[in-house]
Amino acid sequence: MPKRIAILGSTGSIGRQTLAVVEAFPGDIEVVGLACGHDGPALLAQAARYRPQVIALAQGRVDAGHLSPGPAVFSGPDALTRVAAWPGLDLVVVAVSGLAGLAPTLAALGRGIDVALANKETMVAAGDLVMAAAKGGGRILPVDSEHSALWQCLEGRRSEDVRVVILTASGGPFRTLPPADLEGVDARAACVNPNWSMGRKISVDSATLMNKGLEVIEARWLFGLDYDRLQVVVHPESVVHAMVGLCDGTFLACLSRPDMRLPIQYALFYPERKTGCLPVLDPGQMGRLSFEPPDLARFPCLELAWEAGRRGFTFPCVLNAANEVAVERFLAGELKFTDIPRLVSRVLAKHLPLKEPGLETVLTADRWARTLAGQLAGQMGRGA
Ligand code: MG
Repeated sequence: MPKRIAILGSTGSIGRQTLAVVEAFPGDIEVVGLACGHDGPALLAQAARYRPQVIALAQGRVDAGHLSPGPAVFSGPDALTRVAAWPGLDLVVVAVSGLAGLAPTLAALGRGIDVALANKETMVAAGDLVMAAAKGGGRILPVDSEHSALWQCLEGRRSEDVRVVILTASGGPFRTLPPADLEGVDARAACVNPNWSMGRKISVDSATLMNKGLEVIEARWLFGLDYDRLQVVVHPESVVHAMVGLCDGTFLACLSRPDMRLPIQYALFYPERKTGCLPVLDPGQMGRLSFEPPDLARFPCLELAWEAGRRGFTFPCVLNAANEVAVERFLAGELKFTDIPRLVSRVLAKHLPLKEPGLETVLTADRWARTLAGQLAGQMGRGA
């Protein structure tokens, strides 16, 4: 029996790479649902190729009337959640970017459906809710490359044996740029990642190192670690994705070519390991691997994320929301690159944490942060 999956964010980078993995293993996976944010034409093209039972577009409308048999079609704000809750699914790939991934993730887990999670914002904003939902039978299978690596290094290990967990960062395109030049970099330069092929939001997050900060918070929840046991190391070659330091001084590391299809494949088929669809790393040709501590003065976002994580409550949610607004405005040319940490820092400084647990609290904090970030971004864009 093929595994029955839905892909949320199917037209984005991770979504398309997921479909490439599906095609590499004919007959093993049935694509039952496809959903995306706004790219209706690309969604329809995918629907014609994969013949899902259900498709959804969060923003806008699609007409699938020319497909026979036509899929069920949903649109609007709860469209993604309706796909995640579609009957008979074995697994949902959550590959949308931003907090849009939260409600569908909770819906799938709440029905005992596994979630292959490529959306770190959901974990950052509502890690406690997601982990609680996962107690209902559905598993969270990390797709983020560092977390997939950690999952593989940590599986079967006792927590008390783990001394430190290290996430590696490529350092992004501006790792060696003189700090004074950071202010003038534009969206195009920020979206060029030296090693990984990614969407625009996560590319900017990689350039600011906010991505790594979000991943630290994500790791805290996924693996139940306190922040003192988490560390970030810059590793420009992106071959070692994560390391685990054990109490006796041993380190375990997970190495592979920087190709998201591998962690996607691992999550889709877990616990089975598949052979032969991707080019393999040749250690003899690997050359030099280098590691260095992150430059926190150059990349203040990493420290902001760490601090928000440690403070807990709704601080990580606010960090994430303010960052989403800052990145949008930067991509639109309204803010400078160096305004991103400034804006996030200003919003965090004004936040009074909400301590009541629950989805409403998360959504309230998220809305508050977006509104304030939008106002402050307007002022900053005018040079205030
Ligand atoms: Mg990652």
